Amino acid sequence: MAGFAVCADCAREYHDPDNRRFHAEPISCPACGPRLSLRNSAGRMLDGDPVREAAALLAAGAVIAIKGLGGYHLAAAAEHATAVAALRGRKHREDKPFAVMMPTLAAAHALAVRAGDLLLLNKIDLLPHLQFDLQRCLEYVRRVNPRLRVVPISAQRGDGLETWYMWLRARMTAPATRADMR
Ligand SMILES: [Zn+2]
Repeated sequence: MAGFAVCADCAREYHDPDNRRFHAEPISCPACGPRLSLRNSAGRMLDGDPVREAAALLAAGAVIAIKGLGGYHLAAAAEHATAVAALRGRKHREDKPFAVMMPTLAAAHALAVRAGDLLLLNKIDLLPHLQFDLQRCLEYVRRVNPRLRVVPISAQRGDGLETWYMWLRARMTAPATRADMR
């Protein structure tokens, strides 16, 4: 990290044995640390707040590469069909699922339950050992999506596996509908 100059405040903390950031190599702060920037595909830096501008570009259908410590995340707005198609084309992932980012866990649950047709309740063998109110869970789920079919799955006894298999089989042979494409 020697190549990254730190500000006087960070340097003082780095050299202070009583400071929790003593000899913490990646030490930095908003004054001397990494900066966000937004660049176009030619590498030219774009004006404006990088996060706001990136959000606006995503909303307009752009595919954005977000550089982090571990490499790049390629991002597109999931509701933007042409952007997702462009991303799939570039990644050669025509049918493999992408990770979807949601603002909150509650939003993710609501979307998954609302848009889904089948809920697999996996590992029900563990229920006696958990503080999990199955009836209340199903009540909440049906409030969000009354037509959702629930199949409890037991890996030990095999409960539900045949039902699940039949459901999959029916999907594979039936012609695709709009609901199937979701
Ligand atoms: Zn600093």
